[in-house]
Amino acid sequence: MSVLVVVECAEGEVKKSSLEVASYGAQVAAQLGTTATAIAVGGATEANLASLGEQGITKVLYDAEPRLKEFSNNAYTKLIATAAEQEQATIIVLANSNIGAAVGSRLSVRLKASLATNVVELPKTDGGQFVVKRGAFSGKAFSNVVLSGDRKIIAVKKNSTEARHEAGKIAEVVSFSAQLSDADFADAPTKVVMQEQAGGVLLPEAELVVSGGRGMKGPENWGLIEDLAKALGAATACSKPVSDVDWRPHHEHVGQTGITVSPNLYIACGISGAIQHLAGVNSSKVIVVINKDPEAPFFKAADYGIVGDVFEVLPKLTAAVKELN
Ligand code: FAD
Repeated sequence: MSVLVVVECAEGEVKKSSLEVASYGAQVAAQLGTTATAIAVGGATEANLASLGEQGITKVLYDAEPRLKEFSNNAYTKLIATAAEQEQATIIVLANSNIGAAVGSRLSVRLKASLATNVVELPKTDGGQFVVKRGAFSGKAFSNVVLSGDRKIIAVKKNSTEARHEAGKIAEVVSFSAQLSDADFADAPTKVVMQEQAGGVLLPEAELVVSGGRGMKGPENWGLIEDLAKALGAATACSKPVSDVDWRPHHEHVGQTGITVSPNLYIACGISGAIQHLAGVNSSKVIVVINKDPEAPFFKAADYGIVGDVFEVLPKLTAAVKELN
């Protein structure tokens, strides 16, 4: 029995969201009295993978096949399934990310494993049952799900658990090959285009996001959003109607029909907080809402609320951040 953690990497480094997943997997392993092994996808340096020891991982499997740097559903599924078989993993932990969602369901079929997505807590294992808590209805409700069978897959929602960190602990990095063939990469992308944000911060991975809605009144006022984002080193985002009328490009639209963000800080400026918008932002760690209507629904989801006019509040906030820098 062992725990296998799927660790996503990009640009030579383990993604921050995967540090949380690694820590989650290590804690599940400790609960079950076993160890956690990681399988890396996306390409990272050996030193970076070894530092997963700080999250409690004991061993990292790494397949040096260069085509694994880009996402391929077939190849990633085969890689992880082969690692799970080799390690006799009974629990597989991955991120509730786009990659996790695509691969998790395939792994579930391939390994005949039960699967729970959007998991927000460590499992409860009392009474012989394996129970996980998962978010539902865009975070409006939770359900406790009993996972059965010999193999279980858990997709962990970002920012739902604390990543533990034991400085200086090193994991063993072990070379691994899933014997992937050309056919396994038949679905690989021919070209990957990343939409860069102003300031070079990519929205899906951003730790800080400043977002504007229809309350910003028009594209000519977006300088206020950009100034605050620049002062914070944040990415910029918007609500759907804003991108629908071309005030902002579509790749900045967050929500149910746009991008999902999970930053440490999401600042919503002149956004009402419709459920479709919240669906894309409600796993942010801290939400700050600026809205002149004290009854705006977004205040219910906010950690901090400022009832005020964005045109007065934003310049003051930006000036205060600049003073701190
Ligand atoms: P509004 O609802 O018009 O709100 C503007 C807010 O600004 C108000 O709360 C107002 O009080 C405030 N305001 C106005 N002036 C000021 C000021 N000077 N200072 C401070 N505050 C001010 N929406 C998304 O965002 N993302 C999605 O992915 C998405 N998907 C959808 C999918 C479907 C199927 C449907 C039906 C809708 C979807 N929507 C989505 C639209 C969603 O329902 C809302 O209509 C939208 O989020 C509202 O955008 P908004 O908050 O910018 O605008």
